[in-house]
Amino acid sequence: MALAPKILVADDDQALSRTLSWILKENGYEVLTAPGGEHLFDYLQAEPFDLLLLDIMMPKVDGLQLLQRVKADPRFKDLPVLMISSMPPEEATVRSLGLGAADFIPKPFRVRELLARVKAHLRVGRELNQARAEARSRSEMIDIMQEVTASLKPEEIYQILVRRVAHGLNISRCSIVIAGPDEHTGTVVAAFENPMLNNLVVDLRKYPEIRRALTTGEVVLVRDTTTDPLYEEVRQGWAVESQPVQTRSAIALRFSLRGLPAGVFFLRTATEDAPLNEQDVQFAEQVITAAVAALEKAYDLEHAVMGAEQMRHLAETDPLTSCFNRRALMQKLEQEMDRAARYATMLTGMMIDIDNFKQINDTHGHLVGDRVLKQLANLLKREQRSVDIVARYGGEEFVVLLPETTAAESRNFAERILRRVATHEFGETGQPVRVTISVGIASYPDERVTDAESLLRVADNHLYRAKSDGRNRFRD
Ligand code: GH3
Ligand code: MG
Ligand code: MG
Repeated sequence: MALAPKILVADDDQALSRTLSWILKENGYEVLTAPGGEHLFDYLQAEPFDLLLLDIMMPKVDGLQLLQRVKADPRFKDLPVLMISSMPPEEATVRSLGLGAADFIPKPFRVRELLARVKAHLRVGRELNQARAEARSRSEMIDIMQEVTASLKPEEIYQILVRRVAHGLNISRCSIVIAGPDEHTGTVVAAFENPMLNNLVVDLRKYPEIRRALTTGEVVLVRDTTTDPLYEEVRQGWAVESQPVQTRSAIALRFSLRGLPAGVFFLRTATEDAPLNEQDVQFAEQVITAAVAALEKAYDLEHAVMGAEQMRHLAETDPLTSCFNRRALMQKLEQEMDRAARYATMLTGMMIDIDNFKQINDTHGHLVGDRVLKQLANLLKREQRSVDIVARYGGEEFVVLLPETTAAESRNFAERILRRVATHEFGETGQPVRVTISVGIASYPDERVTDAESLLRVADNHLYRAKSDGRNRFRD
């Protein structure tokens, strides 16, 4: 038998942690909690997990920062992370998805939705690992990832929808019925009143409102099944079988969600409940429209983040500065080296390091430090020509690649950015921070430069000389 998937919950809220663990354990998962998220990495290192549930706001540690660290660590970068938070969804979702979270669950969470999401991402994680193993020899990883991630299963989506609508309308009987398998039948794909129900085929002749909604697209309200003309035939059947009336009133409302067959929301009240009326119809329409729109948006977001283009962009971009990251730099540098060799042109690489950056952090704080990094990145990007490449190489080090540039031209470029940086007002308005940089230049062709790595090594040596010669200068 397969082992139960193992989930790590990192949340400072003990009550919530306990509830979450309990719910997850009840559903067959193995659960560990990392209180407050402080020693998260100790937990992650100690044993392998299949999923991480991470709170965004914890008093001692910043969940988004933790997420970033998890995703930056090659050992854990494929671990699906679901962020939990009471932050405004827009902001938190965009930020956490941008940082590589698999999903976002707003607090207070809905149990079934949470479970559906956990299940979906565990599956995605597993399938992803399989796909990875199979595709190792190929380079189409991005396409495969997109395929797998886009496959949140329809039944999971239907479950989320009935849950949302039942809650929104405060009604206990709410299901989704799609047409088929044949002309007179429908299939109940999800029912709030019975979560275990799975593709129950029903005879639509007993449900005239569903049939009508499916065929006409109209919203159908049956206020009272004992008098409504639509139910005439059904009533005759009841009489023949001497069946008691179980449903007092019903609403059937057609909806469609991109990529899925059109379905009908079927809302019912029992005989002892108050009958449904026009206002309920209006409200149901609103709730269903909102629920469908929310799901479509979630889809869009997933696609937006996981679309091939976007994926490539994310994979190549440093989140703080929006420059290329180190991995992308190495790729581009290799391409540029090839090109320079093939067409016998020059290529210059510049290693740029902020002077005494530690002191900037110590004096003004880390947030200002981050801001300076962003501002420097923007300044460098403004100076670049369209063919140049600006990348964040590490903490406070950047690399600029200048294809087809002579030694004299690169010196000019270096002089110019040194001057621009030294005179630029970094930091916040009213609290300027003085910043200087040191630059090491390496060019190809050069006898010491045979590949991407050696080019960076030479640039780094020259950077070191610029530092020891007093900083705020370049060396080549
Ligand atoms: P030097 O002139 O010799 O380069 O001195 P330095 O202080 O800049 O060099 P050092 O390598 O000692 O310190 C670099 C500092 O950069 C240490 C680290 O805390 C900080 N740093 C690295 N990455 C980040 C970041 O993303 N944000 C902030 N705010 N600081 C960072
Ligand atoms: Mg430095
Ligand atoms: Mg440094």
